[in-house]
Amino acid sequence: MTQCPKGAHELPYEDDTRGHCDEHGVTLLWHGPPITLEDFTPEPHGRRFPPPAPRALGRHPH
Ligand SMILES: [Zn+2]
Repeated sequence: MTQCPKGAHELPYEDDTRGHCDEHGVTLLWHGPPITLEDFTPEPHGRRFPPPAPRALGRHPH
């Protein structure tokens, strides 16, 4: 989970592409998330999320 930038709590709504806090009216888009080694390491038990999109790696499609 991700910490709400305007409050001392975690975002009540969060998925692969965005996070949202109704209470504070905050929407975060994960266009520059911190990438961890786990994102590049195949997991033997399967992944819970699809691999990061190219833009998440800092590349631009054009
Ligand atoms: Zn909040």
